[in-house]
Amino acid sequence: MKKSAIVVGAGIVGLATARALTNNGFNVTVLDKTQRAVGASIRNFGMVWPIGQPDGELYQLAKKSSQIWRDISNSVGMWYNQSGSLHVAYSSEEWIILNELFAQFEKEGRPITLLTPSQISIKYPLVKQNNLYGGLFSADEMIVDPRIAVANVSDFLESFSGVQFLWNHTVQEVGTGFVKSGNKLLKADKIVICSGQDIETLFPETFISLPIVKCKLQMIRMSAPNNKLIGTSVCGGLSLLHYTSFKSAPSLDLLRNKLICEIPDYIKYGIHVMVSQHEFGDLTVGDSHEYGYTFDPFDHHNVNELILNYLNSFMNASNWEISSTWNGVYPKMTDGSSWYFNEPIDDVYLLNGLGGAGMTLSFGVAEKLIDKII
Ligand SMILES: Cc1cc2nc3c(=O)[nH]c(=O)nc-3n(C[C@H](O)[C@H](O)[C@H](O)COP(=O)(O)OP(=O)(O)OC[C@H]3O[C@@H](n4cnc5c(N)ncnc54)[C@H](O)[C@@H]3O)c2cc1C
Repeated sequence: MKKSAIVVGAGIVGLATARALTNNGFNVTVLDKTQRAVGASIRNFGMVWPIGQPDGELYQLAKKSSQIWRDISNSVGMWYNQSGSLHVAYSSEEWIILNELFAQFEKEGRPITLLTPSQISIKYPLVKQNNLYGGLFSADEMIVDPRIAVANVSDFLESFSGVQFLWNHTVQEVGTGFVKSGNKLLKADKIVICSGQDIETLFPETFISLPIVKCKLQMIRMSAPNNKLIGTSVCGGLSLLHYTSFKSAPSLDLLRNKLICEIPDYIKYGIHVMVSQHEFGDLTVGDSHEYGYTFDPFDHHNVNELILNYLNSFMNASNWEISSTWNGVYPKMTDGSSWYFNEPIDDVYLLNGLGGAGMTLSFGVAEKLIDKII
């Protein structure tokens, strides 16, 4: 008889886990408390972002996940764009760091190029030319549209792999071999909990003991006149402070100290500004980072204004219009780990804490971890 597994949570982590289990011969049922996924997995930029991952295993997992995103997208005819990424420099410090990263990434064999302002003006005319020193282009990155991608992955798993989805099923109890949802008792050999920011409900003691914090991010969706294409995902200088893979740049502290003095509010709200573009021209712009355990539910208008002002410092975006604003929350490890995976009860596993890299890492991480427990 086929082995069985239950996955709790139909965000990208749960879906990647369901995929890995089904590929290993399990009969998989996914339960989610909502009618469709509406968590962090549909609230992000849709950036599948190897450039943010350091060399070695994490970069390889990001590359593997990208390939899986492409395979699934091609199977179901879902839009994606292997648009790459462009980090732009508007100060000598930012330009020095891009050169340092170029030297390092080139040694690591990444597909990167340094672009001059005139090369940028030809390929990416919506990038501002004033005071532009140049940019670092990487071909690794791709964009999916999170508002449709996660639903498409669950449809793919249902149609192609026979995964059963039970929506509107809140799991309120878990033990070895079973989960309870309302008056239903479901049994399975393995249970994996991928409950995103709701980590405390099923395992309150584990949650309290973990080196984990939650992060609330503010986001903005915009449109440009005639849905003009930006050509790639573009990131301003603040993003250089954000990703682990940039930490090795020797001049990073110089830039950090300069920005702390010059634009302290951006550092205070953890703002760095990136823009990605989707199939019909919609632009996703963000974000800020507020850490805690319980958040004010309201968005801070001043934070969105800071994001928009910074956007206008590197993109010709003054005529872009806002179509929606929202926030999202993810749990993030505070001990430097890239995820949390543990077995609090026999054959019951918790997978969480992928932070700001769930779209980038989930498929690769789930394959790696599920291999260990089968
Ligand atoms: C604003 C924002 C921007 C981001 N940008 C990017 C990006 O561009 N690239 C990138 O790689 N990552 C990005 N991330 C990170 C990425 O979105 C997350 O790492 C990822 O979505 C986490 O997925 P998840 O499945 O753990 O959580 P979620 O998507 O939140 O899913 C958890 C699911 O579990 C369900 N659930 C919880 N408890 C129960 C229960 N008891 N019973 C049943 N169901 C339950 C919930 O209903 C939910 O559907 C971003 C995140 C945010 C918030």
